[in-house]
Amino acid sequence: MTVLTNMQTRDVEALLHPYTNAVTLRQTGAHVIESGEGVYVTDADGKRYIEGMAGLWCCGLGFGDAELVDAAKQQLDKLPYYHLFGGRSHEPAIELAERIKDLMPSMARVFYQSSGSEANETQIKLAWYYNNARGRPEKKKIISRVRGYHGVSIVSASLTGLPYNHKSFDLPVDRIHHTSNPHHWREAHEGESERDFSARLAAELEEMILAEGPDTVAAFIAEPVMGAGGVIVPPEGYFEAIMPVLHKYDVLCIADEVICGFARTGEWFGHQKLNMQPTSVSMAKQLTGGYAPLSAVAINQDMADAIEAHSGEIGIFGHGFTYGGHPMGCAVGVAALDIYKRRNILGHVQSIEAGFQRRIRSYADHPLVGEARGIGLLGALELSPGGKAMFDQPGKVGARLAAELVKHGVILRAIGDTLAFCPPMTITEDELEEMFAPIETALDATHHWAKA
Ligand code: PLP
Repeated sequence: MTVLTNMQTRDVEALLHPYTNAVTLRQTGAHVIESGEGVYVTDADGKRYIEGMAGLWCCGLGFGDAELVDAAKQQLDKLPYYHLFGGRSHEPAIELAERIKDLMPSMARVFYQSSGSEANETQIKLAWYYNNARGRPEKKKIISRVRGYHGVSIVSASLTGLPYNHKSFDLPVDRIHHTSNPHHWREAHEGESERDFSARLAAELEEMILAEGPDTVAAFIAEPVMGAGGVIVPPEGYFEAIMPVLHKYDVLCIADEVICGFARTGEWFGHQKLNMQPTSVSMAKQLTGGYAPLSAVAINQDMADAIEAHSGEIGIFGHGFTYGGHPMGCAVGVAALDIYKRRNILGHVQSIEAGFQRRIRSYADHPLVGEARGIGLLGALELSPGGKAMFDQPGKVGARLAAELVKHGVILRAIGDTLAFCPPMTITEDELEEMFAPIETALDATHHWAKA
């Protein structure tokens, strides 16, 4: 019997998507979403849902925003395509780069792609190019983190520290290493404070750099708050302990802001909120509110100088994508950044985050919940059969809870047995109330099911 009842489904014989579990989908069909308005989406049966994940963490301005749609339409009318190659450019790309720089004064240049994976792929090539430019061709290893998520292309999937992104793809590739994930609740020793745990992780990073050889380590990459790894907020003092280690060994610091960027954590960027001082920053998703595929990498002046000088010497900087900085994507990006400022989205997030986090934490004592956590408008309930124990069949209980919530008209995402929340940042108090209303009932029902 399937839980996806009373819902329009489509045959999926012709469909394969990386995250599609083809076997399950064949049994249930695909739940087809047809339209969206504000924080709601409507499926092909006409049933309405609160989209508590902003799609895939991207529709921070909700659905059906006329300004974003108009920006896309106008740009398609005016100039549907042009590139940023061979000395050519276009207005939306320049305007958006200026606005990104205004928000991030420590960055000097902006380089466009279409997806978060491409942004991180670009980051690694930039780090390698930079060290060639600096005459350090051996300094190429990258340190990422267990449970970090950085994409699915060959190198970005290697940076990703989740086994299912490596399994049967022969990944990770060489030169990419993973240090521990900073999940205090699950990973800290008994009685270890957050600060002590942070210091231990910084010491572990230093040991890894020393073991590999500081002259071989180019960069450290981290999401300020891990998203797809389970919404893992770093412990107190984490980046404050990590940063001096990176400085000591001249290791670049890459902030992957693909989820955290543009007000999600309660600051413009997660690195600002969490005291990370990046040398370069990846952005995507909320850069366009999810209305167009666009990503960007911002680099600091030192990197920009080295890269420019080296490309002058060798005659080429041989990297860039046909659709990187697509005019429609950039026009939508400009409109999105305007909206964030004009509608004071950051102020709105700051005004509702306390209520959101209070609601998340109100489930901490539910017998199915191991940990309730979050920051800004990101939240998670990590389910457990008791304490820190894990379920025998990972992912089943989480999937069941997400399916229960669908019955109640709420779409959230189960990451294994962790229920993730990332609502559109435009969500009102009343809509928050509506999103949280069925959680207790769905937790109870899932708890009974799991015990049976
Ligand atoms: N980096 C982070 C932090 C992400 O969450 C994601 C996607 O969820 C990516 C990179 C990859 O982005 P994309 O799916 O656009 O390639």
